[in-house]
Amino acid sequence: MLRTHTCGELNISHLGQSVTLCGWVQKSRDLGGTTFIDVRDRYGLTQLVLNEGTTDDLRTKSRSLGREFVIKVSGKVIERTSKNTKIPTGEIEIAVEALEILNESKIPPFMIEDETDGGEELRAKYRYLDLRRNPIRNNLVLRHKMAQEVRKYLDGLNFIEVETPVLIKSTPEGARDFVVPSRMNPGEFYALPQSPQTFKQLLMVSGFDRYFQIVKCFRDEDLRADRQPEFTQIDCEMAFITQEDILHIFEGLTKHLFKTVKNIHLDPIPRMQYADAMRLYGSDKPDIRFGMQFVELNDIVKGKGFSIFDNAELVVGINAKGCAAYTRKQIDELTEFLKRPQIGATGLIYCRYNTDGTLKSSVDKFYNEDELTNWAAAFEAEAGDLMLVLAGQEEKVRKQLNELRLEMGNQLGLRNKDQFAPLWVLDFPLLEWDEETGRFHAMHHPFTSPKPEDIPMLDTDPKNVRANAYDLVINGTEIGGGSIRIHDRALQALMFKHLGFSKEEAQKQFGFLMDAFEYGAPPHGGIAFGFDRLCSIFAGLDSIRDVIAFPKNNSGRDVMIDSPSTIADEQLNELKIKTTV
Ligand code: ASP
Repeated sequence: MLRTHTCGELNISHLGQSVTLCGWVQKSRDLGGTTFIDVRDRYGLTQLVLNEGTTDDLRTKSRSLGREFVIKVSGKVIERTSKNTKIPTGEIEIAVEALEILNESKIPPFMIEDETDGGEELRAKYRYLDLRRNPIRNNLVLRHKMAQEVRKYLDGLNFIEVETPVLIKSTPEGARDFVVPSRMNPGEFYALPQSPQTFKQLLMVSGFDRYFQIVKCFRDEDLRADRQPEFTQIDCEMAFITQEDILHIFEGLTKHLFKTVKNIHLDPIPRMQYADAMRLYGSDKPDIRFGMQFVELNDIVKGKGFSIFDNAELVVGINAKGCAAYTRKQIDELTEFLKRPQIGATGLIYCRYNTDGTLKSSVDKFYNEDELTNWAAAFEAEAGDLMLVLAGQEEKVRKQLNELRLEMGNQLGLRNKDQFAPLWVLDFPLLEWDEETGRFHAMHHPFTSPKPEDIPMLDTDPKNVRANAYDLVINGTEIGGGSIRIHDRALQALMFKHLGFSKEEAQKQFGFLMDAFEYGAPPHGGIAFGFDRLCSIFAGLDSIRDVIAFPKNNSGRDVMIDSPSTIADEQLNELKIKTTV
């Protein structure tokens, strides 16, 4: 090796030793007679010193060093006169005896420091430099640790890691497919897996019993902070199990990760019905770090002459504790927040429970103080609280109030990143009505089994058929989801029928799976965790980008390698593809 130690390793116990280090120049300071150089690698930072007595040659070389030059340096470990207690190597320095420049560096486009001056775009373009910064590197180290612990835990429970193909046929997980043209089969395309769903089910048919894979999935959908076109799942499947077994094993995985990676002990994870999550939080992924549950007011507010409430399907609100002193301006800002097109509320009604015990609402014309007292009772409000109320079409108004609740949680500092509130959400509906296409879609995916007792309702009341499907939510983020699967050809065919597939379409797209079900398919089920999201929650980040070594930007571009990009006409011809752009 070119070095004897790393830059994070040496301390007072190495005094007097001759050592050789390699690394990048973080900075160098020339103080008249003495030159200090900080050399950095992924393990830490060590101070080098060149004193008066140093040879001219060494001195000249040390003066030529620029930021991010790669050097190899030999010398003795000596005690520092002024110590830095903040870093592990802070009590020593290396008295340089030999210095070799292994490679020069241009001046980097931004500071390689924890707090950098580089904007997002610049850092993305030079991601390999951004990855030199401690916070980003630490995220990847955390991710590595988590992946190792996932493997340890699942291996300990007899799960087998099996790789599944990347060039496949569409697996419907609700997004668009990325497709890859086949040169050998002109005019035909592979799809990249939105998940290995059908393969892991086939592995169960093959008798593998417990499968997992830390695997890339690809979905062509609009990007957000917690979405990338390619992302990683901890994908799992098990045979001969019930829903309860899956919840137990994957609650165990979650606890194992929190314990081994963050030294946090998690209590048993609470469970909530999907229907309750929607009713109390207006979301299938409620952030339960804080309460502020929805309070429905239809019974007490309707019929008092206020048409907005009278005409609304649902009047519902939250109690913002201690916010009675919110100014008019603050409330106007909340109203503006709710009126943004992405939320789409028409207005916000409020009622202050003042500290002097009086009640004052924005609809005093219709509700006298006695009536407002009923509101306060419904909200279990106390003096000092602010009741915030929305009205409208039920589904829409719940979604809007969910946004308001999360915003109030932010404003009141109730969404602390160091607090972790996991939750199982259970019994999702099997089907979801899609306005655009005018038909039902599978809420999870078409392989999810309905609750057996609800199967007869598929014909009469499809919207209310519940699935054996579950999600793991942490701090309001969906971390994982899965289901008990259909393992019977007839039921799978029935499901496709309800999803609007003709017999022929179903056979063409999923015949292989239904055929497999005829050869002794065991009952099975599984789950997949979004590994990037889990890592970003562990790292305390809002975006998954910084737990991914080479992420894409919001337009799905990798600006470093400049991809996607056009390809040569020759290549297109070979693929028999004509583009029209
Ligand atoms: N394939 C599913 C998904 O990607 C997870 C599962 O059902 O196991 O969401």
